[in-house]
Amino acid sequence: MLHQKVDQDLSDRKNWALRRQLGIPNNKRLWVLACMDERLSVEKALGIGVGDAHIFRNAGGVVTDDAIRSAMLTTQFFGTKEIIVINHTECGMMTASGDFISHFLEKKGINLDQTSIDPALPELKLSSGVFSKWIKTFVDVDETCVKQVELLRNSPLIPDDVVIHGYIWEVETMRLRSPYERLSEKVNTAEAMSGKGL
Ligand SMILES: [Zn+2]
Repeated sequence: MLHQKVDQDLSDRKNWALRRQLGIPNNKRLWVLACMDERLSVEKALGIGVGDAHIFRNAGGVVTDDAIRSAMLTTQFFGTKEIIVINHTECGMMTASGDFISHFLEKKGINLDQTSIDPALPELKLSSGVFSKWIKTFVDVDETCVKQVELLRNSPLIPDDVVIHGYIWEVETMRLRSPYERLSEKVNTAEAMSGKGL
């Protein structure tokens, strides 16, 4: 009967539009923390589509106050059971230090002492000297990825049963890999192939 298909379509549309009100989680019950870099498509990297995940992106794909805020909400209230962190090679956050960025802004006349970091919450201020750390630049993408997973695991605001993993997106191969699993370094010389190189 055709009406069954129409009724199903109407029901699907209602469940889509009223997901949060009805307590329906995203399709994969997944929250993703990823860098904002334009060479990383979270959907393509993970093979997911519209409706599959809550996706949070910032410079570096690092744990920040708003990352924790969003992760807390999705895991505590929206049915999310899994977190995936995606950092990537050639990330802009490895091209300068926090001190360099601070000095750059100060030279432009911006006062970084007691900086208010949220215009909608002026009482949230950084203590003197913390701005450079708040920028969260890093020097090693593998180390950073492992660290972000650890920070999320250790957050008291995220339930202990949430499964958390981290991966590196290689912009040079446009593929994901696990931290420290640099296959490209193991295939080019005899020394590397014998296992002595790494
Ligand atoms: Zn990046």
